[in-house]
Amino acid sequence: MSFTYLSRIAAAEEIVKKLPLSPKLKKVKLVRDRGIIDIFKGKSSKFLVIIGPCSADDEKAVLEYCRRLSKLQQEVDDKIILTPRIYTNKPRTTGEGYKGMLHQPNPKEKPDVAEGIRAIRRMHIKVLEETGLSAADEMLYPDNYAYLEDLLSYVAIGARSVENQQHRLTVSGLDMPVGMKNPTSGDLNVMLNAVQAAQAPHTFIYNRWQVRTSGNPLAHCILRGAVNQYGQNFPNYHYEHMIRLTEMYLKRSLKNPAVIVDTNHANSGKKFKEQPRIALQVMHSIRNSGLLQKTVKGLMIESYLAEGAQAVDGRVFGKSITDPCLGWEESRRLIMKLAERL
Ligand code: PEP
Ligand code: MN
Repeated sequence: MSFTYLSRIAAAEEIVKKLPLSPKLKKVKLVRDRGIIDIFKGKSSKFLVIIGPCSADDEKAVLEYCRRLSKLQQEVDDKIILTPRIYTNKPRTTGEGYKGMLHQPNPKEKPDVAEGIRAIRRMHIKVLEETGLSAADEMLYPDNYAYLEDLLSYVAIGARSVENQQHRLTVSGLDMPVGMKNPTSGDLNVMLNAVQAAQAPHTFIYNRWQVRTSGNPLAHCILRGAVNQYGQNFPNYHYEHMIRLTEMYLKRSLKNPAVIVDTNHANSGKKFKEQPRIALQVMHSIRNSGLLQKTVKGLMIESYLAEGAQAVDGRVFGKSITDPCLGWEESRRLIMKLAERL
């Protein structure tokens, strides 16, 4: 058992200084941030669609995806805010496999986190520069948040992290919407506890400082389905699930109650082609309930240029190397259908 110290990682301030966001892009991002925050504050009736690959494994493919998304954004601008999923660090169920661009800037080569931390910042900036879209990323490692904090418009806490205190406390200091997923067990109280913890102020260690946070009133829930002790998937996107969660939510007197539905993972059982059906079913449920109209604010969809998934050494451009994704054409059609129904 041992640690081998490989290389010192530059501090966030240092990397941000070397790869800064220009004042022009800061303004673009501010407008996007306001649009998304207004959805969660109930000031805007637009619908949020967080959509993109399971993992942002290839900068070129991610840029091409976001260019297409940006054109589509113009078509649905009056009803939907499209936020690309640019997920740069991946939680792995058994610890094995591709851990995201942070760990492997080139998925086919050995890990290089010192370079990866620059690569993910560069990719987020390039997407914003070329497409005007600021993105969503998962906060898998709270300590790394400082490297991206000026770039993201939405953050998710994954199913495997949502019970972790450092994640909850860190979210309490963010000033953007943060979705807390239900844990893989499906326990809704764990997710609501996470929202409650993140909405409260805390004092703790962050970035090697003692910090005090204000509490994040924009922390909310993401339903991603559950897995039981036998490994079977149980969806939680149906009308009754969303009503039950909303009732539990409202009993807690939390700020800005909001639910996003993840259409893949245990909701689809990773049958990625089910995502359009699930998304449309959620829309149908919303239309049938005044309560859900107020609380269900959007969807999270796994989508990439090519449908399905391939091995890490696969060569298809824009095809997922982690969870299987909906292909571009089906994704575009789905977004147009969602817009028709809003
Ligand atoms: C993901 O969004 O790709 C993911 C890993 O989600 P979850 O934490 O719900 O498994
Ligand atoms: Mn995934």
